[in-house]
Amino acid sequence: MDAEIISVGTEIILGQITNTNARYLADQLRQLDIKSHWETTVDDHPSRIIEAIKQAEKRAHLIFICGGLGPTDDDVTMSSVASALDTELELDQDYWVKLQNDFAKRQVDLAPENIRQAYYLKGGEPLSNPVGLALGSMITQGHHTFVVLPGPPREFKAMVSNSLIPKLRQLTNGRTIMSANLHFVGYPESSLMDDINHLLEPYPEIIATSYVQPDETQVRLTVYDLAEEHAQKIINKASSVIIEKLGQYYFGTGENITLAGEVVQRLASHHYTISAAESLTGGLFQATLCSVPGASRVFEGGFVTYATQMKTQLLGIPSEFIEQYGVVSGEVAGAMAKMSAEKTGANIGIGFTGVAGPDTLDGHQVGEVWVGIQYDGQLIKRQLHLSQKMGREAIRRQSVQLGLLML
Ligand code: ATP
Ligand code: MG
Repeated sequence: MDAEIISVGTEIILGQITNTNARYLADQLRQLDIKSHWETTVDDHPSRIIEAIKQAEKRAHLIFICGGLGPTDDDVTMSSVASALDTELELDQDYWVKLQNDFAKRQVDLAPENIRQAYYLKGGEPLSNPVGLALGSMITQGHHTFVVLPGPPREFKAMVSNSLIPKLRQLTNGRTIMSANLHFVGYPESSLMDDINHLLEPYPEIIATSYVQPDETQVRLTVYDLAEEHAQKIINKASSVIIEKLGQYYFGTGENITLAGEVVQRLASHHYTISAAESLTGGLFQATLCSVPGASRVFEGGFVTYATQMKTQLLGIPSEFIEQYGVVSGEVAGAMAKMSAEKTGANIGIGFTGVAGPDTLDGHQVGEVWVGIQYDGQLIKRQLHLSQKMGREAIRRQSVQLGLLML
């Protein structure tokens, strides 16, 4: 069964937003082993949306039409799909009543035009939207199945993962697919995949694919069409071989995990608390930690000491000490770690100092970063050699990730 994603939106065509929805859905389809050869983007224009659907019908069986389900006049997707499929729109009466009641309870006005978001394709089924107003819709006509989804990425993702994927699994006739998603940081993707492919030689049943993101590389191990138990055994075995060999870059296996999330979890399970003092990362480490729900279990506060004198003023590191070693040094990173733990009473302190660029600093190259960790009377200092070519933002982000990995 071949699929085609049609993204609807003038904003995408004009380069005003990045089409992250299509990327997300394509990744999900790949994991379900649903093939896709075409992808279309069209602006918010009824006749062109209809044209895109007609084209897609010629080359795919499963067609997704994404975006443009809002209440305003420029949101024309649902009615255009209905025209293309020669059907009508049907009001989901129960849903519309519920929506009105929910809004009344919260004493918020619901605009009358929001009724447009309670319509779905007649003859098909509405897809519920757990985080927004617009219903989605799914309809099968002959050999074709059409799925209509809203544009806001949070709604889109929630609907794909909550209601769509189970339905797609049924459509793919229960073909068994078993996979594990391994997460790595701090090792270039090409080297990582070389190593992994080598380690997987004894496991020809496994297909390994990689997915590079700004902060990590994910490697998915997939096995098709084997008895579930057997497939699971092979994947577990191969995973443990990989983790044993590449453990220093590995931080977890699963679908929705992040390095910061894993660190918070691990620190919390040991009842540790952490504090940070940050120079080149300017608070990014602490912001990353706080982005994890429940971070308060391990994090109470820390310091952003960007200028040298702030390391003295806020952390109490003597200026002679900084002068002696230089601000970009393991000693200063260590002192920052130690003082941030001491000042906040946290069990663990972490310090970041280095050169994010674009200019060199006191003779230190862009990309020279030092991380210090103070824990239990021990001080660990590590120098990160990041490439100047990464650019300032990536150097700062990578410093945070590698600091987290050290924890
Ligand atoms: P709304 O009720 O917000 O209008 P909608 O279903 O009509 O929802 P759109 O109008 O297409 O959706 O998009 C709403 C917003 O969602 C866009 O401004 C954009 O920020 C985001 N968005 C839409 N499509 C995509 C996409 N393919 N990838 C990433 N973001 C998108
Ligand atoms: Mg809209």
